[in-house]
Amino acid sequence: MKFCPRCGTLMRPKSINGKLVFVCPKCGYEEEVPSKARVATPLSFTERVAHTPKERIIVVDANAPPPTAQVLKGSVRCPRCGNDEVLAWMMQTRAADEPPTRFYRCTKCGYTWREYA
Ligand SMILES: [Zn+2]
Ligand SMILES: [Zn+2]
Repeated sequence: MKFCPRCGTLMRPKSINGKLVFVCPKCGYEEEVPSKARVATPLSFTERVAHTPKERIIVVDANAPPPTAQVLKGSVRCPRCGNDEVLAWMMQTRAADEPPTRFYRCTKCGYTWREYA
């Protein structure tokens, strides 16, 4: 949060030519954000969260069963084709203190879905 030194209006962070600047929406005053302060600004924080390596892992692994996946017969049915032979595996997708998510993949049509434990 930064206020305009000229008119006192709350300034908005904006990226100009790759640099982060605070711009006053009222009088147009601009002030460059020092690189040290950048880490703490809400804008760069949002950017970091959107690109965490953890999230990329979830997307990739959810579609590829690990070698430890087990074949289940008769206990789970594919919601798409009704086949009762599926691959099942567990994966930690959220915070470490939360229970892992159980994934299933239909051996017939390849449909993959998850079930929260
Ligand atoms: Zn201003
Ligand atoms: Zn299926």
